[in-house]
Amino acid sequence: MIDQSPAIHLVILEAEEPDYLRQVAESIQEQFDLDVTVGKPLGLPTYALDPVRKQYNSNLILKRLAETCPPHAVKVLGLTAVDLFSPIFTYVFGEALFQGKSAVISAFRLRGVPDAKAALGCPPLMNRMEKEAVHELGHTFGLRHCLDPDCVMNYSSGVQCADRKFPFFCPACRELLLWSLKKSMRE
Ligand SMILES: [Zn+2]
Ligand SMILES: [Zn+2]
Repeated sequence: MIDQSPAIHLVILEAEEPDYLRQVAESIQEQFDLDVTVGKPLGLPTYALDPVRKQYNSNLILKRLAETCPPHAVKVLGLTAVDLFSPIFTYVFGEALFQGKSAVISAFRLRGVPDAKAALGCPPLMNRMEKEAVHELGHTFGLRHCLDPDCVMNYSSGVQCADRKFPFFCPACRELLLWSLKKSMRE
């Protein structure tokens, strides 16, 4: 039987499931209190490749993800390791349709430079992907950037900013999110 409770659907835009998938899925489940479903790895989003920039256009990926969002899902999140760009930026960690259906995040720039933590077998990439996933999905629920430097909705201009903030919402953002979740469940 198909589980019809509302979910956030994860789409892997790689050949295989990435090692951070489980942590990202658990964090989303916890922060949004919704089921998380995972689709089969789809491979690279070749339709979005810009041959000149040799990067992938996140606007095109968001559009495609929104069109293919399964009926049980309220939101769909794409996960990839390719370098994403949005036409007005050199690169993006991720992007989302504000109050829309889809978001996408990439490990490419979030990997950053290997540091001491990575050498200890505790790579910060998982934590960064977790925060970026919650952040971009927050935008799909209508949350804007938050001035609280600890809040997951704080804007990260670099990986250091991403490392500093918490993987969860400040009380004000949480309240807005709960209101938005209630609203989206009625639709
Ligand atoms: Zn943002
Ligand atoms: Zn906040």
